[in-house]
Amino acid sequence: MIDTHAHLNFSDFDTDREETFARATAEGVKQIINVGTNLDTARRAVMLAEKYPSFYAAIGLHPTEIDKEKFDYAEYLTLSKKTKVVAIGEVGLDYHYFREGDDIAREKEKQKKIFQEFIRLANEADKPLIIHCRDAYDDLEKILKNYLVKKKGVIHSFVGGYKTARRFIEMGYKIGLNGIITYGASYDRLIKELNLKDIMIETDCPYLTPLPLNKTTRNEPAYIRHTFERIAKVKAISVNELDVCTSNNASALFGI
Ligand SMILES: [Zn+2]
Repeated sequence: MIDTHAHLNFSDFDTDREETFARATAEGVKQIINVGTNLDTARRAVMLAEKYPSFYAAIGLHPTEIDKEKFDYAEYLTLSKKTKVVAIGEVGLDYHYFREGDDIAREKEKQKKIFQEFIRLANEADKPLIIHCRDAYDDLEKILKNYLVKKKGVIHSFVGGYKTARRFIEMGYKIGLNGIITYGASYDRLIKELNLKDIMIETDCPYLTPLPLNKTTRNEPAYIRHTFERIAKVKAISVNELDVCTSNNASALFGI
């Protein structure tokens, strides 16, 4: 199995990163892409990828981080050229976390502008995108239609319906599924309708721990098996078949 979106670069794993990695390996997780959310966590993802052969890195500035860091295109471009950087992300749009008093129109414009800059960067670096999108699928679709993204990418932690998914699939994007789909039956229809070739599986750990584990426990790559099992069950196929297909999807997109 490949965990296409993890955050072992976060400080949540500072005290037991080696053990976490060992548990993932024992569970059959062969490769892990650690995803940066700002310059600091992006650099740590790259450092870890240089240390562990089965780790890869994605570098980007998360839309909810743009007010905490001045976006530096050149810095991210330099990082993107490191050998084990396989994607630009997570980047995108997040309209969920606006606070009272925020100038929402201005915040949205700022997010869109920085996302467009990252599209330019992904094209310059010749890498796919790992896209974070919350409550903003319409605006995301508009941007992806207006700005050519050479290597396309994945809509990570997808929470829309199949009709929405299809709009992105038709543009060449993969749909990233994680523990969220184990929380109830509401994603079963999406899972059934999705073609295997369009699915990417991830943990987004330390967040989104899959059921039947306790949602409050820290998530980690070893737990990806529960998400695999759920998708395989809904699609009435074996975990192995699902793994072969989705691992191929990840290998092809990220070149790993
Ligand atoms: Zn994430």
